[in-house]
Amino acid sequence: MQNDPVALEARHGAHNYHPLPVVLTRGEGVYLFDTEGRRYLDMMSAYSAVSFGHSHPALVQALTEQAQRLAVTSRAFHTDRLGPFLAALCSATGMERALPMNSGAEAVETAIKAARKWAYKVKRVPEGRAQIVVAEGNFAGRTTTIVGFSSEAQYRDGFGPFAPGFVSVPYGDAAALERAIGPHTAAFIVEPIQGEAGIVVPPAGYLREVRAICNRHDVLMICDEVQTGLGRTGAMLACDHEGVRPDGLTLGKALGGGLLPVSAFLARADVMDQFTPGDHGSTFGGNPLAAAVGLAALELLERDRLAERAADLGAYLMERLRGLRHPAITELRGRGLLVGVQIDPSVASARQVCEALMHEGVLTKDTHHTVVRLAPPLTITRAQVDVAVAALARVLQALAPAAARVEQPLPA
Ligand SMILES: *Cc1c(COP(=O)(O)O)cnc(C)c1O
Repeated sequence: MQNDPVALEARHGAHNYHPLPVVLTRGEGVYLFDTEGRRYLDMMSAYSAVSFGHSHPALVQALTEQAQRLAVTSRAFHTDRLGPFLAALCSATGMERALPMNSGAEAVETAIKAARKWAYKVKRVPEGRAQIVVAEGNFAGRTTTIVGFSSEAQYRDGFGPFAPGFVSVPYGDAAALERAIGPHTAAFIVEPIQGEAGIVVPPAGYLREVRAICNRHDVLMICDEVQTGLGRTGAMLACDHEGVRPDGLTLGKALGGGLLPVSAFLARADVMDQFTPGDHGSTFGGNPLAAAVGLAALELLERDRLAERAADLGAYLMERLRGLRHPAITELRGRGLLVGVQIDPSVASARQVCEALMHEGVLTKDTHHTVVRLAPPLTITRAQVDVAVAALARVLQALAPAAARVEQPLPA
């Protein structure tokens, strides 16, 4: 067992993850394959990074062609790929400017810097006093600044001291946001749907109220759409569902086409233009390989109408899940193809459900111990949705055979 990849990981890696006991070697479309050649339906798509499915031919072609021509130059020079990528990003999202980074956390860090600088230079907040409001339950990555404003004890434990300048308000509560705003408030950073918190959908009208409050107090509304953006929820951006345009926007995950880490911070021109040469940067951010893949991903999203597809297939998935009427499911939440299935903890942990699903040929990951995340590639078909739902039904039936006989209507 000397070359067993799991043993090697355990011996030589940091133990900062607890993966399901499956060793994957290949992906194709919505399917993943393990070392034994077993096939799994991917109902997780790498936390939405694989929205186009694994190894999408158009994206692999863009990647390989660009890799053979020019991959990395740094931003010390212009390349022929960056401008078209930024133009496509702005046109897809209705924003004026885009700044490319790599990971989602870096896009959020960029948003924090932009908001603070705008507050000092434009809003005339006294130096060092800018405040940023965040929502409880947020997830914005793992840098020390970002975990500093997390409400998740484990994400913070042992990693302080943390950066000051953040205040937290309950998610979905617009009045609490307004009360938290003071003369030094620069921005409110909010996820239109909280993904890592367990697919938490705020009350209808929340984003519109947030928009009005931010306007009233000259505070930047920054939507963190690293997970919800690019079609996932059935619209290009999740804030499109309420017709809201933010002042700043972070994208990531799916932007790399499931092939590379590609992220961006987008903003109003007067916000982005606070950055001057030397203020901020990244060795790899906006490299021609990332730009070519990001551009191809945006084109594919539009060409294959994947946002509409997510709306349609997401509604179908939700309808099928409701149809299970299984008492072990205490709540169904989500929008488009971002769905959380809340499991009654007295029946099973979400982790147990995920392990059992794995044996049924369906891969996904629990979030927050009680929620099974269902977020497949947007390219999934109805028949494949049926397969996933049937597997979940078998798993719940096996975990809670008695409970299943109690007919009970499921809350909407
Ligand atoms: C995943 C995520 C991030 C962080 O992205 P990384 O690429 O893991 O750094 C930020 N915001 C949201 C909403 C996310 O879901």
